[in-house]
Amino acid sequence: MDCLFCKIVNGDIPSAKVYEDEYVYAFKDINPNAPVHVLVIPKKHVADSIDCANCENAEVLTKVLLAIPKVAALCNLTNGYRVITNVGEDGGQTVKHIHFHILGGEKLPVKLA
Ligand code: 5GP
Ligand code: ZN
Repeated sequence: MDCLFCKIVNGDIPSAKVYEDEYVYAFKDINPNAPVHVLVIPKKHVADSIDCANCENAEVLTKVLLAIPKVAALCNLTNGYRVITNVGEDGGQTVKHIHFHILGGEKLPVKLA
């Protein structure tokens, strides 16, 4: 499958690793929007939250969600952080492998929700 984030998980494209376990990989965003900007993804290819609707992928998603506070702790985000997942065209998703942005390291601007 021609997927950028699958290539990063496989090591075919280099990345700055922050965290890794059996199911999850986290790495620094190449174009950071905050002092800390890390992407947390499942190692298994799942396109988006719609693709997570079947039980098998729901388990993968749970692993990713449980890893997020661990990644935040590794990044010393003791004063809080924001988690964002963009879905589909209207959500502005550019990479079709589900990912959660962790943003922090400063008081974040523009709260949409
Ligand atoms: P999206 O816009 O789909 O929610 O987020 C995709 C993110 O992937 C963007 O923030 C973008 O900067 C990041 N990104 C795109 N290509 C690469 C890459 O090759 N390496 C890394 N580390 N991040 C990337
Ligand atoms: Zn993928």
